Amino acid sequence: MLPVAQAVLDQPLGRWSSLLLEGVTLPTISLHTRRQRTKDFQCMFQASIGIHLHFAHHVRGHRGPCISLHGHTWRFEVTLAASELDAEGFVVDFDRVHDELLIPCFRLLDHSLALGQLSYDEVAMDLARLGHKLVASRHETLGCLGDPPATYEGSLFGARNELPGGIKLAIFPFVPTSERLAAWLHGAASALFADGRVHVARARVYESLHPSESYADFLPPSP
Ligand SMILES: [Zn+2]
Repeated sequence: MLPVAQAVLDQPLGRWSSLLLEGVTLPTISLHTRRQRTKDFQCMFQASIGIHLHFAHHVRGHRGPCISLHGHTWRFEVTLAASELDAEGFVVDFDRVHDELLIPCFRLLDHSLALGQLSYDEVAMDLARLGHKLVASRHETLGCLGDPPATYEGSLFGARNELPGGIKLAIFPFVPTSERLAAWLHGAASALFADGRVHVARARVYESLHPSESYADFLPPSP
């Protein structure tokens, strides 16, 4: 009879998913051994988690309508991958990704205007004047200026909040297109979660969800 490890590794490709569904525990063998034995098929777990956000942006220099300030319902999503699970049976605990990455993104971006640093430098004074006027409208409803918006404290992987005149901005060191935001999200997720076992297989930024989906992916180079 074959040893358990060899028996599992010798299963045809289609058997892997059913083995996992049946709760068969994969053998404890070194990655090196597994790569040798599964040269054409690396068994890999992937776990994806995302969050919806509402924010506006401006695409500096865009030839089309994105030159205007305009908003989307966005979705930031990361896919983490590992060939072996941790002791609890996770690639990375979803709660950890939620608390350490997605909620900080939400605090940075939700109900903000995202700008690149260069555009912000050019319009910061104008936005402060505009912000003061917009926020002052609360006197009509609340009788006071109310509370400042929720923000992220400090720098989130190079991005930060500014509150000119009391309105919320998210400032990036680049023009915040979907593609660049996806690359930024990938870098943030990698800094938080990548190690010898886990890597970030994909970061996806949906710029619109309805009526048609459009998104940008950032994938790391193949090993
Ligand atoms: Zn846009």
